[in-house]
Amino acid sequence: MRIVLDRPRCEGHGLCEEAAPELMHLDDDGELVLDRAEVGEADAARAGAAVRVCPVAALRIA
Ligand code: SF4
Repeated sequence: MRIVLDRPRCEGHGLCEEAAPELMHLDDDGELVLDRAEVGEADAARAGAAVRVCPVAALRIA
């Protein structure tokens, strides 16, 4: 599965980073960076948590 970021929607809240810090982080400019967009079963729960916690629905699983 793959995490997809709708960048224009992202407001840099960083809640997704708190939910899945090994998959994504905010850079120095407050822009979200997907460190690992392709995730396997081992990371599926964390990826799902990151998607659910985003208050503006900027992340989805494809
Ligand atoms: S929680 Fe949503 S709005 Fe906040 S940084 Fe992550 S993707 Fe962007």
